[in-house]
Amino acid sequence: MFEQCVGLAWCSGCRIYSGAMVHVPRTRVLVDALGSLSEDEAVRLRRSEVKLVAHLDHQDRR
Ligand SMILES: [Zn+2]
Repeated sequence: MFEQCVGLAWCSGCRIYSGAMVHVPRTRVLVDALGSLSEDEAVRLRRSEVKLVAHLDHQDRR
């Protein structure tokens, strides 16, 4: 069984933010890039694409 998901990817090298429909096996556990954040922080980032990309960019450079 596959689940259709919207996959979002940010490449800090190319500075390209892309989205695509992907099929993920139901048994596969996805890594939540915002999983380490508090609920409030995650909600704040999801509301703003600019903040979200800035966060992912920062995370990528670590
Ligand atoms: Zn790239």
